[in-house]
Amino acid sequence: MHITADYHTHTLFSHGKNTIEENVQSALAKGLKTVCISEHADGHRLYGVDKSRLLEIKQEILRLRKKYPDIEICFGVEANIVKEDGTLDVDGYDDIFDLLLVGMHFFVRFDRCFYYYIGNIFSRYLGLFRKYCRRRNTSILLNCIKKYPHIFAITHPGERFFVDIDPLSKECAKRGIALEINAGHGFMHAQDAAVAAANGAKIILSSDAHCAEDVGNMDICIEIAKKANIPITQILNAEESESHGVNHCHGHERSRKK
Ligand SMILES: [Zn+2]
Ligand SMILES: [Zn+2]
Repeated sequence: MHITADYHTHTLFSHGKNTIEENVQSALAKGLKTVCISEHADGHRLYGVDKSRLLEIKQEILRLRKKYPDIEICFGVEANIVKEDGTLDVDGYDDIFDLLLVGMHFFVRFDRCFYYYIGNIFSRYLGLFRKYCRRRNTSILLNCIKKYPHIFAITHPGERFFVDIDPLSKECAKRGIALEINAGHGFMHAQDAAVAAANGAKIILSSDAHCAEDVGNMDICIEIAKKANIPITQILNAEESESHGVNHCHGHERSRKK
């Protein structure tokens, strides 16, 4: 399996260790055709990047596109859900990105803190909490994808926040939204990935790199995808090792709102 794109990378703008340009150079060195810079939006209390800084990222990407014409550089974001109804922290400017990624994280200014933090922390240890939070997390994600149909992918589903992958992946399949297997977190795990693929959802493999050398490193994702028996045609950024077809984010015009 050959990886063609890395849609999920972080830089110095949040808690990454390298510049956007260094991520791009690393992606080029690994032979990727596409790299996406997808910082946390500002709903994240620790690493969030506000709109004006996100626009600086966009300017830098526009500069780098001229300097590195051999690789496609996408302006993305890893947005956070901040309300029960699925509202994102990029609400109102969610259309400025080439690729809108959405993930559930701790340290987010969510408006129902007790459920979001206490519930989800205890759901790791108590079955009752797990069942309750799984249902509620899933319904919040479903609200979100209905509200923002141009979402490109849901990042690391199931990581720290239990989700019911069956209804989520069915809805994603219907809307052409991808679900991610994330090398940094090891989620989705193989069992969920197999369910998502069987339901027809598109899959992306991502490094979630926080340093340039990790861009494109997806050995863990490839292992999970193989264990889950996901057909390579269902993975947006992979191709058979010997083929060199084009498969990058220009192929997903629905998610590009520019
Ligand atoms: Zn994340
Ligand atoms: Zn991330």
